[in-house]
Amino acid sequence: MVEKKINHQKNQKKSSNGIRSIFFVIIVFLFAYAFVNSFSAGAKTEEVALSDVIARANDANGNIKKITVSGSDLYITLKDKDQPTQHSRKDSSGTLYEQGLKNSCADKTGDELTECQKTYPVVEYEEPVNYGDIIFNVLTLGLPILAIIIFFTYMMRQAQSMNKENMGFGKAKAKLYGPDKKKVTFKDVAGNESAKQDLEEIVDFLKNPKKYETLGAKIPRGVLLAGDPGTGKTLMARAVAGEANVPFFSISGSEFAEMFVGVGASRVRDLFSKAKKNAPSIIFIDEIDAVAHKRDARGGAGREDEQTLNQILVEMDGFDNESGVIVMAATNRVDMLDKALLRPGRFDRHVDVALPERKDRLAILKVHFKNKPLEEGINLDSLAAKTAGSSGADLANIANEAAITAAREGHKTITSDDITEAFERVAIGPKRQSKVMNEHEKKLTAYHEAGHAIVGHVLPDSDPVHKVTIIPRGHTGGVTWFLPPEDRSYKNIYELKDVLARAMGGRIAEKLIFGKDDITTGASSDLRNVASLAKEMIVEEGMGSETRNLVFPEEATGYYTISTGKPYSEKTAEIIDKEIKTLSDEAAKRAELVLSANREALDRLAEALLEKETLDEDELPALLKGTTLPEGAKLH
Ligand code: ADP
Ligand code: MG
Ligand code: ZN
Repeated sequence: MVEKKINHQKNQKKSSNGIRSIFFVIIVFLFAYAFVNSFSAGAKTEEVALSDVIARANDANGNIKKITVSGSDLYITLKDKDQPTQHSRKDSSGTLYEQGLKNSCADKTGDELTECQKTYPVVEYEEPVNYGDIIFNVLTLGLPILAIIIFFTYMMRQAQSMNKENMGFGKAKAKLYGPDKKKVTFKDVAGNESAKQDLEEIVDFLKNPKKYETLGAKIPRGVLLAGDPGTGKTLMARAVAGEANVPFFSISGSEFAEMFVGVGASRVRDLFSKAKKNAPSIIFIDEIDAVAHKRDARGGAGREDEQTLNQILVEMDGFDNESGVIVMAATNRVDMLDKALLRPGRFDRHVDVALPERKDRLAILKVHFKNKPLEEGINLDSLAAKTAGSSGADLANIANEAAITAAREGHKTITSDDITEAFERVAIGPKRQSKVMNEHEKKLTAYHEAGHAIVGHVLPDSDPVHKVTIIPRGHTGGVTWFLPPEDRSYKNIYELKDVLARAMGGRIAEKLIFGKDDITTGASSDLRNVASLAKEMIVEEGMGSETRNLVFPEEATGYYTISTGKPYSEKTAEIIDKEIKTLSDEAAKRAELVLSANREALDRLAEALLEKETLDEDELPALLKGTTLPEGAKLH
């Protein structure tokens, strides 16, 4: 991908910056000039001979009002002036001067002086100016001032050049992928069909905004791509721009973190105004969680992020229907995002970018092995089969590692050994960041999810199983979805108990297959769900066996005992704990009964999961056929 950078704005800024610093220098000189000038008053005066001064000083019509004596300098102020306009000097011995001015009012005092002054000049004596002092003053006063001015000028320049580098478009980091450059399209994104379908609509809008406008359709503004790292979110966003053939302005949330205070927000402003000018266009904010994490999630830190986030919200709210700009963002932590970002009119479209399933992995591998010569007869499908849980980026990485290995080994083509080594390095290599599962983990996950599915299917008051997958998502190993047949606001105790039992199903299946000692952490979120649902049933719903119809609401009662900090005594707390334990023990027992009675179906389902990774509504019924509900697991 070639980047196009726009630089003209940079030059403009630079020249206005130059003018400003010249301006500063001029001011400094003016100050210095005035400063020195004030000590050398009379520098612009007319030079007159001493004899002339003496003659006029002794003449009532001599037109001299005042003679200021400063060392050997004489400054003469004329009768109609306020400032000295003439200058003269004492003679070198000073005798002529002394003699001459004797006849003026020089040595007169009191009334005599007043009388004399009406006709003859006043003589004033002044401390002679010491130019050494002036220089000293300039140095001690002027230099620090100058230094401060220079410092500030420098700082301002720094800040501006930071802005230039970080802020404007293309100036340094924000990239513009122009429509004329080699572009990414949906063809470069393998798999992810449902995400591509969702984005088709955005592409269509960008291509024909008029079509939507005339029908008065509300155009989507913000599209949030959510998915695990390396699943191709960035790639997908670029593909949307490529498909629609519009400019693509991208910035990464993590870049904001490196910026100078206040730059994040102004950069957002720049980004949006540039995109609007180039509309229809796409703004892409990658890794948006870096700036848009929940405001409370980080305590007081991150004011800068908050400003940036606020600016994003302000810009998005300011869009009108015709702006033709689509804002896309990517994150792998939707749960971390500030809710304000997800409100209508902002990022209200969500596109899930999931980890690839087996056939998608094969497609991605094909994309990344396309220009790499493979040894005859290599089966990429078997690589796809054993890379469950890996992302597109992992697969691209494996392909690259395989090529590197082959080159290192001096092979002409990539051999299956090269691929195996590459796979192992990526899957179990030193970094171990990727979620590639090993065979054991995969089997464990398959039985775990099959356990949930079978318990849920067999128990009479549970919702039907909708879909089962062992592809990890976020922090979970696999997922089993149950679909409530219709929206209901109330659930009865049997339904809730079945929810508890099927949640236990995963853990119990692991225990049945791998034995008691092989308990894994994979079930911790199930157990947490069991604990919180069981507690809710006891405390809020009055569903305990001994405490039936008694509730212990913990909030909004305003009454708390000191010993427990809850609105009930320690004794009651013990009863509640016991009730919770009774519920989860019962759930575990029922799950175990169901799974032991349906061991064959459990194996069948787990095997199918290992093979296909995801089973949906069409495939499940056949696999679940013949399952039975054992007598002991019945509640009614
Ligand atoms: P994300 O932004 O979700 O973290 P990226 O878009 O940066 O992931 O993907 C990283 C790399 O992984 C891509 O550049 C591409 O080489 C590869 N990749 C990821 N998903 C796919 C895919 N569906 N098809 C082809 N390549 C993919
Ligand atoms: Mg990315
Ligand atoms: Zn589970």
